Amino acid sequence: MITRSVASVDSLTWQEQLAGSIRDLKELLHLLELNSFKADTFESGTLLKESLLDQALAANQDFPLRVPMAYLQRIKKGDINDPLLLQILPLKEELSGAPGYTADPLSEQIANPIPGLIHKYHGRVLLIVSPNCAINCRYCFRRHFPYQDNKPGRDEWQQALDYIAGDDSITEVIYSGGDPLAASDKQLLWLTEEIVQIKHVKRLRVHTRLPIVIPDRITDHCLHWLTSTDLLTSLVIHSNHPNELDSHVGSALKKLANAGVTLLNQTVLLSGINDSVETLQALSEKLFQMDVLPYYIHQLDKVKGAAHFEVTDQRAKQLITKLTAQLPGYLVPKLVREMPGHPNKVPLL
Ligand SMILES: *Cc1c(COP(=O)(O)O)cnc(C)c1O
Ligand code: SF4
Repeated sequence: MITRSVASVDSLTWQEQLAGSIRDLKELLHLLELNSFKADTFESGTLLKESLLDQALAANQDFPLRVPMAYLQRIKKGDINDPLLLQILPLKEELSGAPGYTADPLSEQIANPIPGLIHKYHGRVLLIVSPNCAINCRYCFRRHFPYQDNKPGRDEWQQALDYIAGDDSITEVIYSGGDPLAASDKQLLWLTEEIVQIKHVKRLRVHTRLPIVIPDRITDHCLHWLTSTDLLTSLVIHSNHPNELDSHVGSALKKLANAGVTLLNQTVLLSGINDSVETLQALSEKLFQMDVLPYYIHQLDKVKGAAHFEVTDQRAKQLITKLTAQLPGYLVPKLVREMPGHPNKVPLL
């Protein structure tokens, strides 16, 4: 069963890396040297090595493990508290329900007038370009989203394009998902060329975690459709921890910045992962070194299975207030929460 090691991914294309993602829990624990994990090193000996796998297996049925090798390489072996591991490892805590945590916390299924299109915010529409993600983040607010109904074919894309063309208040199109960069560059080129023809659309934005997860995704073909039109393009990456930002990620971001793409980052505030001033400061500083400005820091959406990642609003505000005292204003992300029915994200400070 176990044939791989945490090896170099240098010779693989992004598609091969995506297809070769780790989905097997036993393999994950083996690669990270956690299968012989000593129980007495974790929570006063209550967790046995078998139970780590068993617990993971139970939570995995709800939302399966998925992590590419390029991301796995940044996880420290043998460390159950690694901040990158905690973002991808299924855990028993996910199975205990918590009050207020639901399957569709943002009621997006209501703002979904056409398959693949979400029009919730003034002037901006979100297109679900790819239902797939390169990685499954345990806290994801879309872990229960009905993607099966949101896999548009060309005819349905035409409906979405007609919708945008028919509303001249729409000035920005946002590629989202899943992860829009999980789609092929050929498809993205086609869609972008269609959007360029709608005159009232001025800006194109891409919300993606792929440059963090598989930095090789930023190919010349990708730069081509992103930058070969008159649209003003920005790309919002999603990084939660400075350990995610290695030199490969840095090179991918440099390519985008050099091509004239505005780079922003959004972070989800996660208990036990990035809820300290030091971590958030290091994240902002490293992002800036890589030509990225911090944009939003989100309070967790209350999705079923993610309650153990919650940081209270009071603590979140304290953290950002302290961060503001440490950093120039442009390195402090806006603390926001999404609220169902609100016409924009709601600032908490
Ligand atoms: C965040 C978000 C947007 C974009 O909001 P901005 O404040 O412009 O970044 C658009 N649509 C949805 C559904 C969103 O969640
Ligand atoms: S990459 Fe984004 S959309 Fe995909 S699972 Fe992670 S948080 Fe969710």
